Amino acid sequence: MAVSITSISISITFINHPLRLKLCRYSTLSSKSSTPSLCSTSQPKPIEKDHRRSNPMDGRRPSSRSRRKSSYGSSRRSILKKTFNQEQVAFTAPVPDDPIVAIIGGGMAGLICAKNLEKRGVRSTVFDTGMHGFGGRMGTRIIEPEGLIFDHAAQFFTVSHPLFAELVNGWLEKGLVREWHGSIGELEAGGLFIPLPYSAPKYIGVNGMRPLADSLAQTLPSVVRPCWISKLEPFNGKWHLSENGKNQGAFDAIVIAHNGKCANRLLASSGLPLIARQMKALELSSIWALLAAFEDPLPVNGSGGSTLFEGAFVKGVDCLSWMANNSTKLSNSDNRGPHCWTFFSTAAYGKKTKVPQENIPTATSEKVKASMLRGVEIALGLPVGSLPMPFYTRLQLWGAALPVNSPNVPCIFDPKGRAGICGDWLLGSSLESAALSGLAMANHIADYFKSGGAQPDEFAVGLNNEFQTLSGHDIGQFPGLESEQQTNKVGDYELVT
Ligand SMILES: Cc1cc2nc3c(=O)[nH]c(=O)nc-3n(C[C@H](O)[C@H](O)[C@H](O)COP(=O)(O)OP(=O)(O)OC[C@H]3O[C@@H](n4cnc5c(N)ncnc54)[C@H](O)[C@@H]3O)c2cc1C
Repeated sequence: MAVSITSISISITFINHPLRLKLCRYSTLSSKSSTPSLCSTSQPKPIEKDHRRSNPMDGRRPSSRSRRKSSYGSSRRSILKKTFNQEQVAFTAPVPDDPIVAIIGGGMAGLICAKNLEKRGVRSTVFDTGMHGFGGRMGTRIIEPEGLIFDHAAQFFTVSHPLFAELVNGWLEKGLVREWHGSIGELEAGGLFIPLPYSAPKYIGVNGMRPLADSLAQTLPSVVRPCWISKLEPFNGKWHLSENGKNQGAFDAIVIAHNGKCANRLLASSGLPLIARQMKALELSSIWALLAAFEDPLPVNGSGGSTLFEGAFVKGVDCLSWMANNSTKLSNSDNRGPHCWTFFSTAAYGKKTKVPQENIPTATSEKVKASMLRGVEIALGLPVGSLPMPFYTRLQLWGAALPVNSPNVPCIFDPKGRAGICGDWLLGSSLESAALSGLAMANHIADYFKSGGAQPDEFAVGLNNEFQTLSGHDIGQFPGLESEQQTNKVGDYELVT
């Protein structure tokens, strides 16, 4: 079934109309208030540029001062000072005829950015750290030979924006996603399940979220994984990327399509203080994911006498925010065989118990696991100790789980440094916001290249936007699921045809 959206503020026929996201700048506003809007153009344009003499020193930092040994210490304050005081890199040479972009991060935002750049005739390479596949926070874990399957971050998504609907329709046609018909709602501590009042269609990846990301990556001409870009260096008009000293190529522009500690570290000495400052302003929650497989079905229609559910936002349990039966969700089965549940903690519990995610002490993991399983008992209204023991568990901490604030701009671009940022946090906390941000970033860079880079200031976007607190569930936003007004949350951006 095709995704369709009816709304008051957006009334665009999108299924047969190849809309493309583009950033519109309000030319009369100051840079501080120049919030771009999402708009569309109907025809792709070839890239044309003016040809000027290139400066072999182009892209170098303005002075050699920055090459001297840093006098900053290693405290958090010193690192912040270093980040904010670094000198701005300025590329002045014309954009070459056939530019190439490095996209650092192969989650939803980076992959969609690459796909859309390709549509606009711009080459790119996507680098991603993923050991098991692309997708970042679209992770799916399959345990063989037991045949266990869990989405261990994004669980499902809703669609509110016509441009995202267009993408999702394409995925439905290719069999990459399908509608999730399982009952979801709110589970009150004690076992009372209340289905959500609004019934916006819910979508899941067929065989999980990760295969969707991997399929998107397969259609791209240049992807590198696993690869952890550890250094960005501007030199001779290009960005030079490397992974622990190993050269990963030279590029005409870069897109940071990830966030958190990794991005802050990468940007700390990149020559991009404006971008680095915005990235630093982002605050992220921490969430524990407990994957647990049970021999028998959980008593999900237990003491409250409520209906059988497949997914629930848990209320009134301090360590639990979400639980979903990933076996029934992903296998469409008749509830036989192992029962794989994904449980997420609340952000508050994640904050209280946070440890370095790469090195979780055994005592912490045992304590968190026990607390979360007890939380499941409380949520389901089961007596203490009566929850059947899972035969498989795996605990993971998403240390940089979901954004809690946002500059509310589709993408960020520093034209002097030929560098941009895309990701969920620029617009919200969902797969939809990540995809829309990736689309916007691609169109903005393609337009910038088309201009030849002659008037860089016109292309500055999001460098000074102030952050606002994001609302939503601890595991993100699901427009249309709770109130009809939410349907256009992301769609509030101006659309121009
Ligand atoms: C627990 C949890 C549950 C969620 N549930 C939902 C849900 O049900 N529905 C929903 O819509 N959203 C959900 N979300 C949010 C959703 O997953 C994100 O909004 C979305 O996946 C973000 O995509 P992204 O491309 O912006 O970033 P990411 O998915 O984080 O992608 C960034 C990528 O960059 C890579 N990377 C990082 N540093 C480097 C480097 N130096 N070099 C190369 N690669 C690098 C990372 O490995 C990663 O693959 C959930 C998130 C979490 C954590």
